[in-house]
Amino acid sequence: MTRKVSILVVKGSAISGRGVFATQPIKKGQRIHLMRGKRMTMRAMFRAVDDGLENSADPLLIADGQYLDLNELSRTFNHSCNPNAFLRRQCTLTAIRNILRGEEITYDYSTSMVDGEKIRSLGHPVWTCRCKCGAPNCVGIIDQFQRLPARRRAYYLKNRYAPDFVLRKFAGNR
Ligand SMILES: [Zn+2]
Repeated sequence: MTRKVSILVVKGSAISGRGVFATQPIKKGQRIHLMRGKRMTMRAMFRAVDDGLENSADPLLIADGQYLDLNELSRTFNHSCNPNAFLRRQCTLTAIRNILRGEEITYDYSTSMVDGEKIRSLGHPVWTCRCKCGAPNCVGIIDQFQRLPARRRAYYLKNRYAPDFVLRKFAGNR
């Protein structure tokens, strides 16, 4: 815990609000942070959002119908359309490339957003957000994985830069 926290610091971000930054160089493939929070079902997640206890952007989908109500640090990582980290296995934030000291750590929220159809079928609004990540390849909106440009989806799947349950669903193996 101490070791993991010590490589990260929370500061104001040019992308949005606050973000999480590297306090030392991080190597490609290095584990950065295990996302933590209370586990919740989709139903509990709807209830929390409806009751205003939860912002609909904050629960992280980690398996079919299962969410993590992310803790303070875990929910502070910003989205980027050109991220330097990804969610490995279930929710271990891992470096896509070498990251310099002082760089903001980002991942693509879309890579775990595959529950839209189910949410819509249950009569709830599907969360999207205008994206201000500033990446040259920014798609302008944070939306479901299925709605990413096909090339971007292929990039994440080919390199396995997505959680296992998403890879199983879309890459068709493991
Ligand atoms: Zn973007």
